[in-house]
Amino acid sequence: MKLDATDLRYVTSDEFRVLTAVEMGSKNHEVVPTSLVAQLSGLRNGGINKLLGSLAKRGLVSRVQNAKYDGYRLTYGGYDYLAMRALSKRGSIHSVGNQIGVGKESDIYVVADEEGNELVMKIHRLGRISFRTIKLKRDYLGKRKSASWMYMSRLAAQKEWAFMKVLHEHDFPVPRPVDQARHCILMEFIDSYPLRQIADIPSPGKLYSTLMDLIVRFAQAGLIHGDFNEFNILIRRESGEPVVIDFPQMVSTSHENAEWYFNRDVECIRTFFRRRFQYESALYPRFRKVLNDTNEEGETFRLDVAVAASGFARKEMAELEEYMQTVNVGSEEGNQANSSGSEEESEEESESERDEGEEKPLPARAISPERPLSRSPPQSRPITP
Ligand code: ADP
Ligand code: MG
Repeated sequence: MKLDATDLRYVTSDEFRVLTAVEMGSKNHEVVPTSLVAQLSGLRNGGINKLLGSLAKRGLVSRVQNAKYDGYRLTYGGYDYLAMRALSKRGSIHSVGNQIGVGKESDIYVVADEEGNELVMKIHRLGRISFRTIKLKRDYLGKRKSASWMYMSRLAAQKEWAFMKVLHEHDFPVPRPVDQARHCILMEFIDSYPLRQIADIPSPGKLYSTLMDLIVRFAQAGLIHGDFNEFNILIRRESGEPVVIDFPQMVSTSHENAEWYFNRDVECIRTFFRRRFQYESALYPRFRKVLNDTNEEGETFRLDVAVAASGFARKEMAELEEYMQTVNVGSEEGNQANSSGSEEESEEESESERDEGEEKPLPARAISPERPLSRSPPQSRPITP
């Protein structure tokens, strides 16, 4: 879904009140009746239809009319608008530029703050493709079904935000978190190439151990990334240092499947280094040993606990995890697709990734870093709600 910032500044304050009312109403209603919108917005009934009409024309709400319902639903566009308005009111963003990534469950944009500094805005879009299948599988969202995509997308953003903050505070190489609103997070723009795009590096062994050390450092702090692969590791253009992104699936080392997640992260890196750089090492971290060593050293800071304390409660964590697992059921590449910045590339690769055990030489046209992330300045479209 394309983000359209053009219209943002033309939404009037009455329209905004109506839009907010639709959002409030959708917490309990799949389709929000016009009368409820009127009541929640505090505006007289007369003007409501016209205001809803103009919001619908801009795609911020959509009208639903059938035998059972007559009312409105908030669209992704409407939710985006509300989030961006909040961010821009706080002065966190001023303009929206190019889209630099489309994941299975997120859209990534370069945006700028009031001083023109580039930032990255990640819009979480859970439920974009999968809610139909999920509904068939299990009606786990219960009463909240109506607002499920909104709710899950916001949870993912809150979780990612909580982790990014805690990790950044503890000097992990992650982007600096800037702000969060609804399903959006704002963070530092990393001038980098995803590891996926790097054909050659001067010293693969060095990067390999840096990455393995990171996995260990995470675990010592009670955390497992859970999607630690070449798509979620950015290599800084200047220094070659890695930066880790994408945290909605992080789990605690006390998680029942912690060891499995840990091993998968380690395996991702080993496999990638073997295939891409023909680099293999007998040295790689083992979960039990890392935990034992940590306990012996009497490690005291637990970031999983810190995150829980920061307000992202166990209940929300469990809800999000359940959703993510349900989505990945039946798609073995689910996790991979989730982390790909570019769908074509991941599909190409996934063929060879499946041939476990068979070592293929690197294709001659190995991907070289000739396609850096967009550095072109955002085509500034000021947002002034
Ligand atoms: P998804 O959950 O969809 O995988 P990611 O957070 O992994 O989303 O981001 C997708 C892509 O967007 C990354 O592979 C990277 O190319 C780009 N990206 C994300 N965050 C940043 C950032 N802070 N700086 C630069 N590029 C980023
Ligand atoms: Mg990713």
